Amino acid sequence: MKRVVLKVGSHVLTENGGMANDRINALIELIAQIKSKGTEVILVSSGAVATGYTQLQLDRASVSNRQALAAIGQPFLLSMYQNFFSKHDILCSQVLLSADVFDSRKHTKHAKMAIDTLLENGVVPIINENDTVSIDELVFGDNDRLSAHVAYYFDAELLVLLSDIDAYYDKDPNKHGDAKAKKIVVNISDDELNATATPSDKFATGGIVTKLQAADFLMRHDREMFLASGFDLNDVKDFLIKGEHVGGTLFKS
Ligand code: ADP
Repeated sequence: MKRVVLKVGSHVLTENGGMANDRINALIELIAQIKSKGTEVILVSSGAVATGYTQLQLDRASVSNRQALAAIGQPFLLSMYQNFFSKHDILCSQVLLSADVFDSRKHTKHAKMAIDTLLENGVVPIINENDTVSIDELVFGDNDRLSAHVAYYFDAELLVLLSDIDAYYDKDPNKHGDAKAKKIVVNISDDELNATATPSDKFATGGIVTKLQAADFLMRHDREMFLASGFDLNDVKDFLIKGEHVGGTLFKS
């Protein structure tokens, strides 16, 4: 595979009011492994607000406080990534996008040129929505849809969503003990796409619906999406490194 986008949610990055260092370390190791196989990796990272909150406990109920927390958290997040990547002699970079960048062909083209240049030089672009000035993510959703656009417009074959859930189930597995994981999904119904968002805590704004919307967008554009756990990276490792689909859900058209 030439190019892959990995998206990681706030849940995976933080725990008990602090950064989840072991999980982040495992994620960076995985990225180093993927890169060593000759695949270019773009990382889309949420977590600026959650990271800001580990430093200053502002009330997250207000949008302006969440914007402030994003401004505080983003440099912490990046310096942490830099730290972990440097152990593998990998350079990383920060790319903050506003969602409307993809509304203009000219802006998309310029952003892609920058991304291509970073990747040609072995650098990992770490993309986040510019939360402090664009509040879409803070109000509407996680980076799921942004990462689908990133995968399509920056020409990756596959988007991998690393979530707090290890697959897409036939019903919410946190509410139904008998929910069954789907291995391959080739079609998403309108009902599934329009269901109410069900984020599982205060940092997660997307829930499963924005993941399905991301998958639907990519399937319509002849790309694939893989949903797997960000807590236990074995399924994504099997899929990307060994080429074996054991756990996780593959959305393909
Ligand atoms: P993240 O922050 O990791 O990106 P979210 O917490 O926003 O993810 O969304 C995943 C959550 O969606 C799961 O923890 C689960 O509670 C909920 N969910 C609802 N319906 C389903 C389903 N059919 N399959 C999987 N997860 C579901």
